[in-house]
Amino acid sequence: MQQRFIGKNILVTGASTGIGRAIAVRLAQEGGNIAVNYSRNDVEAGKTAERVRAAHDAGGYANAKCNLHKADVSQEQPVNDMIGEILANWGRLDVLINNAGIQKPAASHESLTADFDRILGVNLRGCYLCSRAAIRHFLSREGGGAIVNNSSVHEIIPKPKYLSYSISKGGMENLTKSLALEYADRGIRVNAVGPGAIVTPINMAWIDDPVARGEVESHIPMGRAGEAEEIAAVFAFLASGEASYITGQTLFACGGLTLYPEFRVAWSSGE
Ligand code: NAP
Repeated sequence: MQQRFIGKNILVTGASTGIGRAIAVRLAQEGGNIAVNYSRNDVEAGKTAERVRAAHDAGGYANAKCNLHKADVSQEQPVNDMIGEILANWGRLDVLINNAGIQKPAASHESLTADFDRILGVNLRGCYLCSRAAIRHFLSREGGGAIVNNSSVHEIIPKPKYLSYSISKGGMENLTKSLALEYADRGIRVNAVGPGAIVTPINMAWIDDPVARGEVESHIPMGRAGEAEEIAAVFAFLASGEASYITGQTLFACGGLTLYPEFRVAWSSGE
């Protein structure tokens, strides 16, 4: 395991379960101090903190730290308070991982305005609020910073019946690029990861059902769903100094889902 985050202070939003937890653990394995954000699930957030501390112990990082921060990322004051607490505790923030995200299926013509507002609120407004607070801090001191957003293949692939989710990830592409361009000359890099179908609680509908899972995996060129740890590794790269010349990009980690899988056979050319 590399040690790219020793002494770095990192906030991971939505880290009580799934990909956020895997990112928190991965960055801890590399020595980072981890602020674990979540909004509801105290029990699972506590388990993430335990795993982060175990990773610190296993890596021999005696001085590494982990704190829990319960805050709804869609709300301005709690976000600003959370960043304020991290700065009060640790004096500095180096990396922000905007991972918190939700989805809810509904035929678009039957979807509820409240659900639309909630999904855009968490997935996109939350990313904006956390990024703004982090950038204010990055600009207030030397050394810049890195932001990595959890987008999706649905940044570029439409997702019927998940309209607000699709819109939120499409918006995330422009948020990533616009912030990257605006702050590129001040040492702040902003990138995104675009996962495909990953085995996490957000996909409870199919991960434990062999038939449904087979159907999902039949659409993936690599023939399988991804693991959260495979996505966390991409976050670690983009957050690290190894990605020092990369900004404004979405790196898709999706087993080939963005490659127009229907074109594996030349059905459109008569062969
Ligand atoms: P997950 O296990 O359901 O994780 C979602 C996380 O977001 C939880 O920790 C949840 O914690 C947190 N969260 C929800 N609302 C929040 C809020 N208002 N404020 C702060 N935290 C909040 O699902 P996941 O698959 O790991 O999803 C994580 C991210 O990956 C999302 O942005 C999702 O769009 C993206 N993604 C996932 C996949 C996939 O196939 N799994 C594919 C592409 C992209 P609490 O419940 O404790 O608040």
